[in-house]
Amino acid sequence: MSVEVCASCLSNGDVCVLPTETVYGLAGSAISSNAIKKIYKIKGRPPNNPLIVHVLDHESAFDFCHTNNVSKILADAFWPGPLTFILPKKDIISNSVTAGLDTVAVRSPAHPLFRKVLEKVEFPIAAPSANLSTQISPTSKRDVLDAMGKNCPYILDGGTCNFGIESTVIDLTDSPVKILRHGPISASEIESKTGIKVNFPDSQEKSPTNEPQLNSPGQMSKHYAPTTPLRLFKSFDDLSNFHLNKKNDLIILPSNKTNLPVSLQKVQIFYLSKTGEFRDIAQNLFRVLREADKIRKNFINTHLLPEEEKYSAINDKLIRASSINI
Ligand code: AMP
Ligand code: MG
Repeated sequence: MSVEVCASCLSNGDVCVLPTETVYGLAGSAISSNAIKKIYKIKGRPPNNPLIVHVLDHESAFDFCHTNNVSKILADAFWPGPLTFILPKKDIISNSVTAGLDTVAVRSPAHPLFRKVLEKVEFPIAAPSANLSTQISPTSKRDVLDAMGKNCPYILDGGTCNFGIESTVIDLTDSPVKILRHGPISASEIESKTGIKVNFPDSQEKSPTNEPQLNSPGQMSKHYAPTTPLRLFKSFDDLSNFHLNKKNDLIILPSNKTNLPVSLQKVQIFYLSKTGEFRDIAQNLFRVLREADKIRKNFINTHLLPEEEKYSAINDKLIRASSINI
C-alpha cells in the first residue's frame, strides 16, 4: 500500500495502519467522527481512553490546541519524536477524541512515511497502537497482522519501529510540567536539554508494588499483556531462586550477558538485548513478549529492571503486562 492510497483512504473518513518510530498506529482523521468511531470499535478501546493526535510540526499543532512557550521549547528540542504534549484543546477536536477532556494529546511523529501522509492530508491524524485494547503493541507489519487478524485494515509497511515502545506523555497545562506516561524520552533528558523543570511520578503515591502511579486516563493497570500469564519477579535473584521447570516455564531476561545459575540452564530463555541498554531493551520488548507468548508454556517469567529513572518506561510496561507479581 502506498502513501497516496493511505492519504486518500484517510481523507474519506476511513482508517489504515501507519508506521511510527514508536509502534504501528491505527490511523484516522482526528476531525472525522466516522474515523474516530472506527478506531474505537476496531481496537475495542474503552471510550474513556483518549487518543493522541499527530501533526507535522508545532505550527500545525496551533490549529488544534493552545500551544505555549514551553511547548515551543520542547518541540524545538524533541519534535519530530516520541514526546506527546497534553495541551488545552480547540473546538475543532471533538470530545470523542479526548474522552470528554478539555485537553488534547498531540505529537509530531518522526517516521518518514507517517510524515509523508501528514504532508498530503489537511487534518491531524489520530493513531493509537494498532492492536486490540490491553494486548501487546505491534512493532512490525507482521505483528499488526498477528494482532488484527483477517479484518486488518490496509497497512503501510515502514519496517521495524525504531523505539518499540509508546511515546513519553507530558502534561504542559500546569507548572512544573509533569510526565504522565514514561517512554523513550526521560524527565532528566528533557531537563538537561531544555532546562525546563519536570515532575515525574517518583514523588507521587506508590502502588502496592511500590511503582509510581501515573495519573492519566487510559493508563490501565492491565495493558501490553500476553495471553500466557506473566510472572514478574522483583529481581534476577528472586527469579533464579524460584523453582522453574523446562516443561511449564520460559524466561525473558534483559541481556544475554547474564551469568546463568545451574537452576535456569534447562529452561528456555529469550533475551531482550545483547547490551542491557535501555534503547535495545525497549525496541525488542513487545516483539519478544509476542514470540514468548507463541510458545504456549504455562508461564512467562521475567524480572523488573533496577529502579533507575532510565528504566521507568520498561518497568511500567512490565508491571502492566504481568498477571503475577512475585
Ligand atoms: P496511545 O494508547 O499510545 O495512543 O496513548 C494514548 C494515551 O495518552 C492515553 O492512554 C492517555 O494515557 C494519554 N492521553 C491522551 N490524551 C490525554 C489527555 N487529554 N490527558 C491526559 N492523558 C492523555
Ligand atoms: Mg496502545
